[in-house]
Amino acid sequence: MTDDTNVTRFPGQAELPPCPMEIKRRDNFCNHPAIRLDDHSRTMECTTCGAALDPYDFLRSNAALLQNAWQSHTIVTDDLKRLRERVAQLKKEEVRLKGRIGTLKKKLESDVVVVRPAAK
Ligand SMILES: [Zn+2]
Repeated sequence: MTDDTNVTRFPGQAELPPCPMEIKRRDNFCNHPAIRLDDHSRTMECTTCGAALDPYDFLRSNAALLQNAWQSHTIVTDDLKRLRERVAQLKKEEVRLKGRIGTLKKKLESDVVVVRPAAK
């Protein structure tokens, strides 16, 4: 390569300009446990961290949370019903097996033959 100063290297040797955008991040995470509605400005903010919240996003997030809770409730209710039926079956089986054990013990006691050692 020659030392021709009329030629610049692609994409150029200049440094990048400063980034025109910046994301402001909070130091501490907040799940916004309580909100405050401002009727005058029609905005909402977190009472803990003071963050301005988008009402639609907040409502959508809570709707998804409630929907998941309802689905979980249905699943748990169905599981509970199934487990109660299983416990009822097991209790019947326990009673049946205890009766069978009692019957077998009585039969065993009546069938016992005492064997004595032979006299010398
Ligand atoms: Zn917050």
